[in-house]
Amino acid sequence: MEIKTHHFKKVVKKEIADVSSRTFLSFLPPLFAALRQAALSSFPDPEGAQQYAAAIRAEVVARLPELLEEFERNATAHGAKVIWARTAGEANDFILKLARDRGVTYVTKGKSMVSEELGINDVLSEQGIEPYETDLGEFIAQQLNRPPFHIVGPAVNISLEEICDLFMEKAGMQEPTTDPVELGYAARLFLRDKFHHLKMGIAGVNIAVAETGSVMNVENEGNIRLTKSSPEIQVSIMSLEKVVPTMLDAMHIMRVLCRNCTGQNMSAYVSIDTGPKKKDEIDGPEELYIVIVDNGRSNFYFDEKAREALRCIRCGACLNNCPVYTSIGGYPYGWAYSGPMGQVLNPLLLGLDRTRDLYNACTFCGACRAVCPGGVDHPSLFLYYRSKDVEGDPAFKGVRPGRWEQAMYAVATFLMAHPPLWRLASRLGRPFLNRSARGGVISELWGQFDGWFRNRDLPAMPARTFHQRWKELRKQSSGTTGTTDG
Ligand code: SF4
Repeated sequence: MEIKTHHFKKVVKKEIADVSSRTFLSFLPPLFAALRQAALSSFPDPEGAQQYAAAIRAEVVARLPELLEEFERNATAHGAKVIWARTAGEANDFILKLARDRGVTYVTKGKSMVSEELGINDVLSEQGIEPYETDLGEFIAQQLNRPPFHIVGPAVNISLEEICDLFMEKAGMQEPTTDPVELGYAARLFLRDKFHHLKMGIAGVNIAVAETGSVMNVENEGNIRLTKSSPEIQVSIMSLEKVVPTMLDAMHIMRVLCRNCTGQNMSAYVSIDTGPKKKDEIDGPEELYIVIVDNGRSNFYFDEKAREALRCIRCGACLNNCPVYTSIGGYPYGWAYSGPMGQVLNPLLLGLDRTRDLYNACTFCGACRAVCPGGVDHPSLFLYYRSKDVEGDPAFKGVRPGRWEQAMYAVATFLMAHPPLWRLASRLGRPFLNRSARGGVISELWGQFDGWFRNRDLPAMPARTFHQRWKELRKQSSGTTGTTDG
């Protein structure tokens, strides 16, 4: 997937002007948020359940290296082959070579954020190996060559008419229809065929269990289960933070994940693979490869604040509660991860320089933090990124502000540190600012300030400053006191 995080502002403008996106955003994220609320209430102590999940994720982040080693030992002991990929390139090269060596001409894929992160589809298809997304939404997004709109429904914003045209053109559908059931059936007919005599299937991993070496997937369509059990070779790709210590931890994370993600107590399908097919088993892959993807994560593991981002379990609850995401949708974020989840992860994985607009596009309302089962403190991370950016920290690819901005802050700091000068400047500046006021409100300014006022305004400045009024009040009160005393 092409990374387009730097086009954020341009795409936002387009998306805000798109009536169909806005209609969709006005009901779907709030619906998911309401379903989530109802599902969480099935826990005897919903708040406690969220906190327990956050504690598990905190432990994972603290013990990540040893948990991964334990996972590798146990997965290998059960016959899986574990591959460590430092970069997206290493992961892709391994999968491509494996496919080529085995004469694979096409693969089926289960929906997976990390495979979007790697861009594996492009790599495979450039080399003549056709990747078929088997999740319905992901299949539509793939055919339209668009990034996911929402973590749960990657193509949930695409109209039925558009899907009909697409299926007529690319999925062999014979008769036009806008009946969702018929459309689903057409996709099913097309994709089912791909599972016959399948050599290689690629899936992500929702949870990896260190104590057993198992990989787990949750889904509602059954396509991941088919992608994992039909082929001779199964490739499971996991970002390294997906590991948890025990099966008990995994079960709790799974219960919390489903409730926060789709508002279900449990997804329709859960599959757990501990090694490839055993001799006495009737289905399952003959070879299981687990690719553990770092792709820049260990670069910030040394930083205790930044590594909080690795607590995320990709439930998507933060998206549905974010006023920014629910206004602009998933496309502006320009990569695999959107919404607050993307604002937290993308800057670390891609660098602050390419993602400035993401972590700056936050209202700091804290709605994301309030619903996050991973215990991610999004607002404090965004502030942290801003500070790293201002410092120009090379480890984070921070970009110091431009000369104009630095000069402006230097002048403001100087004035604030010298109260008489500050008072003089504010006395002179107030009438000047008020020249832009209309109806008692300043809603536009010139030059560099223009952007700030695009979505905000200020009340016009009162004629006298607080300090002036305070002086007068004190004078009056001492006069009054004097009279009473006398
Ligand atoms: S940041 Fe939290 S709420 Fe958002 S997807 Fe990750 S775990 Fe879920």
